[in-house]
Amino acid sequence: MPPAAVMFTQTRLDVAEAELSELEEALDALGRPRFHARQIFQWVYKRGVTDFALMSDLARDLRADLAASCTIATPVVERQERSEDGTTKFLLRLADGKHIESVFIPDTPAQTFCISTQVGCAMKCAFCLTGKMGIDRNLTAGEIAGQVRVLARELGMLDTRFNIVLMGMGEPLHNYEATMKALRILADEHGFGMSGRRMTLSTVGVLPALERLATEPLMPNLAISLHATTEDQRDLLVPINRKYGLKELLDACRRFPLKRRERITFEYVMLQEVNDTPEDARRLVRLLHGIRGKVNLLPLNEAAGIPFARPSDDRVNRFARILAEHGITVSVRKSRGRDIRAACGQLITESSRKAPGARLATLMETS
Ligand code: SF4
Repeated sequence: MPPAAVMFTQTRLDVAEAELSELEEALDALGRPRFHARQIFQWVYKRGVTDFALMSDLARDLRADLAASCTIATPVVERQERSEDGTTKFLLRLADGKHIESVFIPDTPAQTFCISTQVGCAMKCAFCLTGKMGIDRNLTAGEIAGQVRVLARELGMLDTRFNIVLMGMGEPLHNYEATMKALRILADEHGFGMSGRRMTLSTVGVLPALERLATEPLMPNLAISLHATTEDQRDLLVPINRKYGLKELLDACRRFPLKRRERITFEYVMLQEVNDTPEDARRLVRLLHGIRGKVNLLPLNEAAGIPFARPSDDRVNRFARILAEHGITVSVRKSRGRDIRAACGQLITESSRKAPGARLATLMETS
């Protein structure tokens, strides 16, 4: 059964969930010319229009047909918080009432949208508030791409170039099909037309999915959340390491196909006296031998319920210097949006945001 037919057997076709080819098939099923799909894509992604009645270059009866048989589900902005540094966090409500957060980070130097792929996260990284929530459900492709539509519209950036990073709530490779479909929708030339170079997928290393990603025609930049330099340390900090170990992960990185000048980014959250010693830095140098990569050091964003401390600038600089002396490109991420808890590992949905005391209690119960 073709995908369009599958979609029509349910109540109404959700255009937000469709790639262009699926929308063309849906128009076929309506007895309409396929080229209207390109017009609809332009309205939805280039102009931010989600009301068929406003799609003025479509015939009036087609608009009525579409309104009767289709919908364009779009996350609703429930709250926006703007940080002193311009970082803006969006609390979005999905069709089933669940909440997610997406973040706009200006001037990095690019304009960047940090996008979620799941409600919560199953990975339980020891230093991450989102991980403390556990997983509620996967986002659909339309909900992932929909965050980009909503942020671009709200920020007046429908005509502006921006990057996306899949570093919000969730582990993208734990929701592989929807994530890759969303990237294809965002890449469509009749929509945002984003190239893979403007997309970064960050993963803790779900190995079978990483191997699959290596074969995709649309290839985002790859960021690996490494965070540790020994198997034991990583078992504790990033529990999926017990299933897919550090060595296997780095071997997969060595095999990962990179185009000329492309590099894998290794994210390394720095936890005082846990993984920030000179020995760790030297081990990291050895681990990354033979991999075209760069390291992004992320001094921890401390939060209630997270049992780690942020290292001093001196410790961070000493670590960075050791990497640099061994020829590794290293950057230290300036934390953005800390005053609105939009920083890395601090996204937590409204339903989990109780009064601070109650939230702390919840986090301690689950830790
Ligand atoms: S750091 Fe990322 S993968 Fe780990 S628990 Fe948090 S959201 Fe999930």
